[in-house]
Amino acid sequence: MASAARLDLDGNAIKPMTICMIGAGGFIGSHLCEKLMAETMHKVLAVDVYNDKIRHLLEPAAHPWSDRIQFHRINIKHDSRLEGLIKMADLTVNLAAICTPADYNTRPLDTIYSNFIDALPVVKYCSENNKRLIHFSTCEVYGKTIGSFLPKDSPLRQDPAYYLLKEDASPCIFGSIEKQRWSYACAKQLIERLIYAEGAENGLEFTIVRPFNWIGPRMDFIPGIDGPSEGVPRVLACFSNNLLRREPLKLVDGGQSQRTFVYIKDAIEAVLLMIDNPGRANGHIFNVGNPNNEATVKQLAEMMTEVYAKVSGEPSLEVPTVDVSSKEFYGEGYDDSDKRIPDMTIINKQLGWNPKTSLWDLLESTLTYQHRTYAEAIKQAIAKPVAS
Ligand code: NAD
Ligand code: UDP
Repeated sequence: MASAARLDLDGNAIKPMTICMIGAGGFIGSHLCEKLMAETMHKVLAVDVYNDKIRHLLEPAAHPWSDRIQFHRINIKHDSRLEGLIKMADLTVNLAAICTPADYNTRPLDTIYSNFIDALPVVKYCSENNKRLIHFSTCEVYGKTIGSFLPKDSPLRQDPAYYLLKEDASPCIFGSIEKQRWSYACAKQLIERLIYAEGAENGLEFTIVRPFNWIGPRMDFIPGIDGPSEGVPRVLACFSNNLLRREPLKLVDGGQSQRTFVYIKDAIEAVLLMIDNPGRANGHIFNVGNPNNEATVKQLAEMMTEVYAKVSGEPSLEVPTVDVSSKEFYGEGYDDSDKRIPDMTIINKQLGWNPKTSLWDLLESTLTYQHRTYAEAIKQAIAKPVAS
């Protein structure tokens, strides 16, 4: 239960604050709201166009935290109430974004507007009203590794100098403009630069978060169940959907890209440290990921297949995966990050944070949730006769 006597990393009592959380109804927002309600006395002004993922925190009104969370159904693109909410809060956390890769090359305008233009007023209101901002960027701002341009058999590819991603040293390497995949990364990079400049020129107190594939329950949607049938979510939900429907998992371009996956609950601990320790977090950009949980997408598919068989009790398919070209899966203009390993020096030094959960363990708890939440609904959807 929440206690008023929580201490920051320097041993000082943490004063309860009001947080304007934009995008609070999404995957990360829902976990952050849960954590703030269960373990702190902070208040949350939760802004989003949806609230399904935080409804359990808003209803019934008898929750012990009911007077500390308020939902505001606001589209930040066009709503004059936004500035008032930012003024009422001590801190703004901005999570709102289009952030599913299937949209980057097929809806590049919406992607750029959402990740850059729509974030501009948030930054401006924080700066003008001297309010602190924690802004969610992405590990994708690093783009491709330097090593990806070396010959495939070059021994330098094994040298961390050619792949480790460091906040204050690594370049941002994107593909050509025709590769519209990079519309998201480029918009996120420009908003980072703007926030950084507001800090340098106007004294904005900011923290930028670069998440490295945070995964867990409530991520995205299962197509045809709680999202559009033709929708393409991020890889965790795509593979969960395939497993639930007993279809082979689709490996884009053979699934050779590498990612590091961090459990959402570990990552949220890092965000809470940022919220509670402004003196240590302000002015910094933080990688938040788990460098020990690296896998190729193919290895992820194999592990998810094995874990799902264990948690569901259903045997795996004889042919559990199938290769598909990126053009077929995502359409024209797709491109990919080859490898993403976060350097942890800065977050370790400033906040002493380290992730704990192994890839197997985080998949086991996440797929247990997916099975419990969706297996029955999928069975019913499959059994339903198609209307003629
Ligand atoms: P999400 O899509 O689940 O959450 C985003 C939320 O923002 C959604 O609930 C959406 O309704 C809301 N939103 C979008 N536009 C809005 C608008 N105009 N007005 C009001 N609300 C709006 O995504 P997430 O995984 O929770 O990601 C949150 C942030 O973290 C994003 O900025 C994303 O780019 C960044 N990020 C996440 C990951 C990850 O691993 N999950 C990785 C890299 C970056
Ligand atoms: N991917 C895949 N099959 C799918 C969905 C995604 O092979 O059904 C791949 C995708 O091409 C990328 C990786 O999985 O290489 C991670 O994709 P995700 O959508 O999670 O986002 P990203 O990490 O690229 O931001």
